[in-house]
Amino acid sequence: MTLTLTDVTLTYPDGDDRLTALDRVSLDVPAGSLTAVVGPSGSGKSSLLAVAATLVTPDTGRIVVDGTDTTDLGPAQKAVLRRDRVGIVFQQPNLLPSLTAAEQLQVMTHLSGGSVRGARDRAMELLDAVGLVDKAGRRPHQLSGGQRQRVNIARALMNEPGVLLVDEPTSALDHERGAAVLDLLVALTRQRSTATVLVTHDRTHLDRADRTVTMHDGRLTAPAPERL
Ligand code: ADP
Ligand code: MG
Repeated sequence: MTLTLTDVTLTYPDGDDRLTALDRVSLDVPAGSLTAVVGPSGSGKSSLLAVAATLVTPDTGRIVVDGTDTTDLGPAQKAVLRRDRVGIVFQQPNLLPSLTAAEQLQVMTHLSGGSVRGARDRAMELLDAVGLVDKAGRRPHQLSGGQRQRVNIARALMNEPGVLLVDEPTSALDHERGAAVLDLLVALTRQRSTATVLVTHDRTHLDRADRTVTMHDGRLTAPAPERL
């Protein structure tokens, strides 16, 4: 499935004025492909993910998630769309301290009212896909930072989303582990045909992306300027 943003503008109140976080941004992410978004801090990268996820409603523009135009959806309909079609991976894994890796994933199925019996199998299948099946019984404090981030990614895929949005997943990881997480995201994108958007300030892994675009002051330019 695909993700399409057309002419999206988002402003935030800023004193008497308004700050333009996204300035007529258009982006088309085909199924099974990974688009990397780079750009300086404050350029609007997280805002781009927030509108793509329908967490924030833009001032103008259109967002089509997995074939559904979100423009006229109400808050409850957007919540269902997010739950069923959008996987979101935030920078911090924010796992629940008392749950095992498998339970972190199974909880997603409980939230969506899905079959509890199927949830265990799917959780184990995804933990296998991220190389953690032998850690299924561990709680977050028994996992390394890189392992927690992989649980976070597996959890985002639990409800089989068509769109996967990932915000700086490697920022807390060293180079090698960052590269492994990137390889994993590319492999999952292909296997599961997600339209994946990856925000990163780390340019070293960008050769793995299908395409790289740059945010600057809320505007998107493609392709990225010369690699650093
Ligand atoms: P990035 O992820 O590239 O660092 P953000 O999307 O977080 O950038 O922020 C873009 C701009 O919007 C920044 O100037 C930031 O201060 C501002 N901003 C982000 N979120 C809010 C908010 N909730 N309210 C007001 N301003 C915000
Ligand atoms: Mg950000």
